[in-house]
Amino acid sequence: MKEPVAISVVLPVYNEESVLEELASRLNKTLKETNLPYEIIFVDDGSKDNSFVKLAELHARYRPHLKIIKLSRNFGHQIAITSGLKNVSGKAVVVMDSDLQDPPEVIQGFVAKWKEGNEIVLAVRSKREGESFFKKWTAGLFYKLIRFATNVNIAENVGDFYLLDRKVVDILNQMDERHRFLRGMVAWAGFKRATVEYVRKPRKAGSTKFGFWRMIKFSFDAATSFSFLPLRIISFLGFSISLLSFLGILVSLYLKIFTDQTVTGWTSLTIFVLFIGGIQLLAIGVIGEYVARIGDDIKRRPLYVVDQILEP
Ligand code: UDP
Ligand code: MG
Repeated sequence: MKEPVAISVVLPVYNEESVLEELASRLNKTLKETNLPYEIIFVDDGSKDNSFVKLAELHARYRPHLKIIKLSRNFGHQIAITSGLKNVSGKAVVVMDSDLQDPPEVIQGFVAKWKEGNEIVLAVRSKREGESFFKKWTAGLFYKLIRFATNVNIAENVGDFYLLDRKVVDILNQMDERHRFLRGMVAWAGFKRATVEYVRKPRKAGSTKFGFWRMIKFSFDAATSFSFLPLRIISFLGFSISLLSFLGILVSLYLKIFTDQTVTGWTSLTIFVLFIGGIQLLAIGVIGEYVARIGDDIKRRPLYVVDQILEP
């Protein structure tokens, strides 16, 4: 009889053909050293290069340890991980990137902390090598904002690189929201947490798939699914502007009735109209972000579509 799997590793893959070979070999080596039965689940997130061919080749070579899930198109990093999580059988699950920025060897540390009874073990970046100042700065700002805006304690300098106990995975699998911010969902779940430090490496090859706009969208997902702060800001803005307007009305009436001066000209009027117009559009935009996500969630479409699964 096959031994039940203890450790599952989930890796989303999008156009990573050049690193998969080294990744699989280092993963297998590390996992063997844990002396626990393991499985490695690669999710091909609609890669446009030869990643799937490469994965199929590795699947045959490392039999019976690899499972390959091929999604029907690119669904994005968070959804790719989600589809992996729905397919794991381990008692503990490691989630990590497949570009070798997250060194597989950290898994040793994960497993040690997990055996001590921690349900969540987060890998914390002690240093970030080879990432632009802009990326580090925006990432720092992002975490500050999120922590300020939410009442969920999301650890800083933590990516999607962690070990989750089965209990946590079961909770995540029950959360079927579409715009997923997994780190936040993990924090939301609670349980006992521990951390291990590691040095985040520069990418081995290829380039980051998170350009500026993707980061913005991701931040919006994080903000809207974990906080109402943007809406509160709008309310506050509306309140302040109403108060100011009221004072403005009093002043205008006073000038009109008791003096023969009025504020002259087109300029002042235009300034007011444009200012209020801008604020209103902004407010509608923010509300729209929430509404769009509600709309997406109530359609209840599946989160992803599987094209093909290569079983171990
Ligand atoms: N990824 C994915 N689908 C996407 C974008 C990225 O599965 O649409 C994977 C990618 O292959 C990598 C991980 O998600 O394993 C993180 O992506 P990336 O390295 O581009 O992000 P960064 O490290 O720059 O934040
Ligand atoms: Mg990366």
